[in-house]
Amino acid sequence: MPCPPEELLKRSAALAAGWQAFLAAPGTDPLLEFAVSLSSFTEFLHGKGLSGLNQISRSLEQQALALLDGGADAPIPPATLAELGLRVQELVTRVSDFIDGQRRPVMERRASPVDAPAPDLAPRHRVWLVGSSGPAWQALALQLGYFNIDAEFHQIRHLPGQGDEPAIVLLSAGGLDSRQTVEQVQQLRARFAASTLLVHELAGDFDSLRAALSAGSDFCFPTGTAQPVIMAKLIELCSGKVEAPLRALVVEDSITASKSIQRTLAMCDIETHAITQPHEVLNCLAQFQPDLILMDMFMPGCTGVEAARVIRQHPEFLSIPIVYLSGDSNVPLQIEALRLGGDAFLTKPYNPVVLNAIVQSKIERYRALRRAMLHDGLTGLLNHKASKEQLAAAIRQAVAGQQPLAVAMIDIDHFKKINDSHGHPMGDQVIRSLAWFLGQRLRKTDLVGRYGGEEFLVALPGADRARALEVLDRIRHDFSQIQHPLNETWCAATLSVGLTQLGDSHDAQTLIKQADEALYAAKRAGRNRTVSD
Ligand code: GH3
Ligand code: MG
Ligand code: MG
Ligand code: MG
Repeated sequence: MPCPPEELLKRSAALAAGWQAFLAAPGTDPLLEFAVSLSSFTEFLHGKGLSGLNQISRSLEQQALALLDGGADAPIPPATLAELGLRVQELVTRVSDFIDGQRRPVMERRASPVDAPAPDLAPRHRVWLVGSSGPAWQALALQLGYFNIDAEFHQIRHLPGQGDEPAIVLLSAGGLDSRQTVEQVQQLRARFAASTLLVHELAGDFDSLRAALSAGSDFCFPTGTAQPVIMAKLIELCSGKVEAPLRALVVEDSITASKSIQRTLAMCDIETHAITQPHEVLNCLAQFQPDLILMDMFMPGCTGVEAARVIRQHPEFLSIPIVYLSGDSNVPLQIEALRLGGDAFLTKPYNPVVLNAIVQSKIERYRALRRAMLHDGLTGLLNHKASKEQLAAAIRQAVAGQQPLAVAMIDIDHFKKINDSHGHPMGDQVIRSLAWFLGQRLRKTDLVGRYGGEEFLVALPGADRARALEVLDRIRHDFSQIQHPLNETWCAATLSVGLTQLGDSHDAQTLIKQADEALYAAKRAGRNRTVSD
């Protein structure tokens, strides 16, 4: 997952500085400030998929918050302070070890040299399979390779030296008893601070799962979990989408209050825009496109509830979360405000950690809702309507930047036969595999949408015809090598590609038609091929 080392280093240094500031002037406010920066660091690590570091940071945050619960006047025992200081130091050291490991050249980090992969558009990911290298795992490794994931086999007794951290470590617990499993999970967690740690072939009972998760694993697959489920999880973990920053609009007549809110939200990387006049809110919603509104309750000439009711009159803003902030803790007023279109009510002075947690969770649910409207349920890709809209946007960008844009239509060959001979669920699995595959092999900036049943629309900004032809034809070839697994069986499939590129016409529908014609030429020429117009 993309995480610039400088960014990580900067944040961990800020955290250490926050701790020193608290030690220099102990008190509730500096401790609260330190807890807020820990909370923001925890969220950051979570967002970057650095799960081991995230666990350390989260438990540190819990410890700091527990101290705050002791009350403003209760002195903190020196032993507790010393322990917390050691844990802050441990976190900072873990971060710097992780960065050192990432900075080593890739070839030096590889346990065994592999053939240099052909240049592709998207970066490759690494998974370590620890503990077993039987035929089933070899088959998994081969298939993962097609999805841009390099699997390496290791034995727990002979792990390469410290500093080499793959994105994902998958431990096979087959043949281990419960105590051995816990020991190995703890050993791997201690060794791989930042990797996501998965355990496979674990007994599926409550106690075994609880013990493995408490020992530091992130996900567990009980014995008998089908290979597609493991593939799906690994691919999901490797495809860490880069999300746009969270945005909140602050509607608050007091500039002091809005500055303080903006400062609090900035600690969790939430972008904000503040207005003091409620009547500006509609314009601002259209321009700033926030994910949430923080609304003051009492403003001259208009209450927060009145402003919320006006906002809810507009269908496009019907579901945007509105969180009220008010100095008044009057319960009937709070109920009234929530009944009339609000999502949460916080009284001032607010706890900054709570404010950030509420804002983040509301935004995540709002984004999930929007995602469901734009994405297809089977594959998670953009749906038909959203693909066309995104293609139009990509065309506008390419034209403005005078950059090439390749557009392709991809269709699975003889798909009816797959449904007929293996059943509809296998057909679904092949469609899902192709979606994962395109997601893994293309860049985050490329457009991939499910245009129809087994038809996909792809657009590659910046790629000219020759480059797109090379990349898409390699994708076509590799797709034909994949074994699409379902339950105890598997099947293979091929696909055809029709390619065109942005020319005189800047109309999305015209480009789609051109790509479709090239696709039909590929079908007529015998399928399993890439044809450019
Ligand atoms: P061609 O090589 O010419 O593309 O042949 P084809 O069999 O793939 O032809 P066609 O595009 O006409 O068939 C697509 C079939 O895909 C028809 C439909 O029943 C099936 N289909 C569409 N959506 C889904 C889906 O979500 N799941 C499954 N399993 N099948 C689907
Ligand atoms: Mg006010
Ligand atoms: Mg087809
Ligand atoms: Mg079709």
